[in-house]
Amino acid sequence: MDRLVYTHFITPDYFQWTLNSHLGNAFGPEPVLWQTASFRPKNRSEDVRGLYLVGQSYQPGAGLPSVMMSAKMTARLIAHDLGLERAPKGLREGLA
Ligand SMILES: Cc1cc2nc3c(=O)[nH]c(=O)nc-3n(C[C@H](O)[C@H](O)[C@H](O)COP(=O)(O)OP(=O)(O)OC[C@H]3O[C@@H](n4cnc5c(N)ncnc54)[C@H](O)[C@@H]3O)c2cc1C
Repeated sequence: MDRLVYTHFITPDYFQWTLNSHLGNAFGPEPVLWQTASFRPKNRSEDVRGLYLVGQSYQPGAGLPSVMMSAKMTARLIAHDLGLERAPKGLREGLA
């Protein structure tokens, strides 16, 4: 054999069965207008008290910058709900 040719495909099956992504989707809810930004599910659950939701399926949306923002927004919500606005300066800066 002269050479080996290797090809690797990622399909929705990979997202569904390896990453446990609902229906094999890669970007969370489709970013149509009514599922975008503030229309996306909120970071604080409206159904389960004390449950917070972070990542591309929640506000503000998909893509690494948005997911980092989602983490920051959720950390702020948790800090607010725990009454940590008066937390020590170092912790506040970590949440800013
Ligand atoms: C092909 C492709 C290209 C992309 N390119 C870009 C790009 O160029 N720039 C950009 O900004 N964004 C890009 N994105 C989007 C970006 O990758 C995603 O928006 C981001 O990674 C989502 O982050 P997340 O933390 O919400 O979810 P994920 O990164 O999917 O993380 C969720 C993790 O949770 C794990 N998990 C699932 N169920 C469980 C469970 N029950 N227990 C424990 N762990 C579990 C999964 O295995 C996974 O590791 C791209 C996405 C795809 C698919």
